[in-house]
Amino acid sequence: MDTFVVSTRYWHRLGDGRVQCDLCPRACKLHEGQRGLCFVRACQDDRIILTTYGRSSGFCVDPIEKKPLNHFLPGTPVLSFGTAGCNLACRFCQNWDISKSREIDTLADRASPETIARAAARLGCHSVAFTYNDPVIFHEYAIDVAQACREAGIKTVAVTAGYVCAEPRAEFFSNMDAANVDLKAFAEEFYRRLCGGHLQPVLETLEYVRHETDVWLEITTLLIPGLNDSQQEIDHLTQWVVEHLGPEVPIHFSAFHPDWKMTDRGPTPPAILSMARHIALENGLRYPYTGNVQDPDGGRTNCHTCGERIIERDWYILTRWNLTDDGRCRSCGTRCAGVFDGPPGDWGSRRLPVRLAELSAT
Ligand code: SF4
Repeated sequence: MDTFVVSTRYWHRLGDGRVQCDLCPRACKLHEGQRGLCFVRACQDDRIILTTYGRSSGFCVDPIEKKPLNHFLPGTPVLSFGTAGCNLACRFCQNWDISKSREIDTLADRASPETIARAAARLGCHSVAFTYNDPVIFHEYAIDVAQACREAGIKTVAVTAGYVCAEPRAEFFSNMDAANVDLKAFAEEFYRRLCGGHLQPVLETLEYVRHETDVWLEITTLLIPGLNDSQQEIDHLTQWVVEHLGPEVPIHFSAFHPDWKMTDRGPTPPAILSMARHIALENGLRYPYTGNVQDPDGGRTNCHTCGERIIERDWYILTRWNLTDDGRCRSCGTRCAGVFDGPPGDWGSRRLPVRLAELSAT
């Protein structure tokens, strides 16, 4: 057996000889030798296997704000990586070279969980992020990496669409420290027609992470002109977040750029992102942000009690910090929601590609 192949737990045999993968709501029913929609899980020897354990599309040290997480160890560097494949099929995918990859050659770097944890510590990273493609599809590898990181005192971050079944979801998030979950729209029709999925499982993941775990949660919604950027939809989405998740969950309204199979429309106008942020504020969310645009207002965190500007950002650079080391407003003492551990980091906006094989050899 290939060293990158491991057995998985979430599947069952069907009466017709096929095997059903129970990791995500797609519930792929596979004949021997077939791969699932995610491409990285397959039916082999009458069971479901993962074919990309220990392989990655590359490692990079990024600012944590780029994940995006604005309330989780601000200013610190995060060792980021992904693998290949995805269990949604978004026509507007902004990472399609990785997520749609069917070429195992894209997986240029290889690394054991312990190597990744050691590399993160050596590079001064406070956390490791599973990103670029959705980590739920490389569930076994992501969990082993997260456990190795925990042993080394490194935190882990999942950047995910949250499209995962209940049992694997519980196992996955019990090993994570923070998550940014994509809420791609607030309409079943959008998920069905443009992503090949459904909205309800994502809402269930959001509620699960917020109420059943200690994982720090932020949300990203990519606003696509004419598809999910109406005032009404943003109003409904942000009302749902306030009612079901509470006012403290940060939400990032991010700018779309034409990509993959969606090149028939232009990038999101900055005014639409600002409008979304204002609707969120009016509906009671304390920490709505804009993303992928230059917008000083949209990158600012205000104290929800006294209105003091407690954090300001210029893209990924922190330009103002008015919090105590345990995350309280210096003006009135109100706690800002999030994970704060001493003074902020000073990683800035740097992006440092890393070859793990070369790093381990030195
Ligand atoms: S994880 Fe992959 S193989 Fe399993 S159900 Fe989802 S898309 Fe199909």
